[in-house]
Amino acid sequence: MSVPHVQTKQEIEQLLAAAGVRPRKRCGQNFLIDGNLMRRVAEVADLSPHDLILEVGPGTGGLTDLLAAGAGSVICVEIDTVLLAIMADRFRHLPTVRLIQGDVLQSKHRIRADVGDAIRSFQGESGGAVKLVANLPYQVATPLVLNLLVDFPQVRRLVFTVQAEVGQRLVARPGVKAYGPLAIITQLTCDVETLVRIGLQSYWPRPAIDSVLMRLDRHDSDLIAASALKAFATFVRAVFEHRRKTIRSALGYVLDADARDRVCQDIDASCRPESFSVREWVALFHAAQSGEDYHA
Ligand code: SAM
Repeated sequence: MSVPHVQTKQEIEQLLAAAGVRPRKRCGQNFLIDGNLMRRVAEVADLSPHDLILEVGPGTGGLTDLLAAGAGSVICVEIDTVLLAIMADRFRHLPTVRLIQGDVLQSKHRIRADVGDAIRSFQGESGGAVKLVANLPYQVATPLVLNLLVDFPQVRRLVFTVQAEVGQRLVARPGVKAYGPLAIITQLTCDVETLVRIGLQSYWPRPAIDSVLMRLDRHDSDLIAASALKAFATFVRAVFEHRRKTIRSALGYVLDADARDRVCQDIDASCRPESFSVREWVALFHAAQSGEDYHA
């Protein structure tokens, strides 16, 4: 396989200038200009010709070049019509790259239906998997990752760059401010690792804050059935809406009084939601659901 070309800053500038546009801050358009980092992203994705890759926000296609070279097919979702036209020209001879114009999110917490359908209908052959590989626009990172983890068990690996603050929320442990639904659902479903801290110089234009490269590898949890994951996520999110309150008080907004008392009987109910480990959250959920006593 020939080594694919890695797009440079000058090439991105030229592509945008030729199209008569400048990077749009509102769309999180900070383009990766560090070739080594782009290659690292593709390497961590461990691409196979049987993989289906979802790339959100391909921009001018720098990372897409590497993904298309290693994966069976790539779905690119780009909100910016001008960038999509650049992509369409660039990949016009490559039918394995499917381009979709629009917002990857169709509502606050849900990815668009055509992308969802493509993921669901993926037939994993010879070890192939669906993977998210992207330099994510900061606005969509949290809802996108949560939706993929909760509703799409076909997505086995997620490799993405994201603002450092979001990276902290993915790996946070109980008792810190960054710990919440994102950490709980991520750590329940995946092995998660922060691979690289990325400085501002790796992007053009330079963003305001550092980013990180994350890898999430899905594991099949023995703590919770896959079919219960959605209800679990809804429960955790609802309780964390009241994260400054005690768990007893926060549960009072979500459960009826009997269920709340049942859940609270064997825990220190004066603790805040952020004090409970992932395993304890699953136990709280099961106690709320089943009516059985809770023993963490
Ligand atoms: N992939 C390119 C790279 O690595 O240099 C560009 C990444 S840039 C951080 C984010 C990209 O996501 C931009 O191209 C932007 O237009 C696109 N984008 C922003 N919001 C989006 C959304 N809601 N849905 C799809 N694409 C979006």
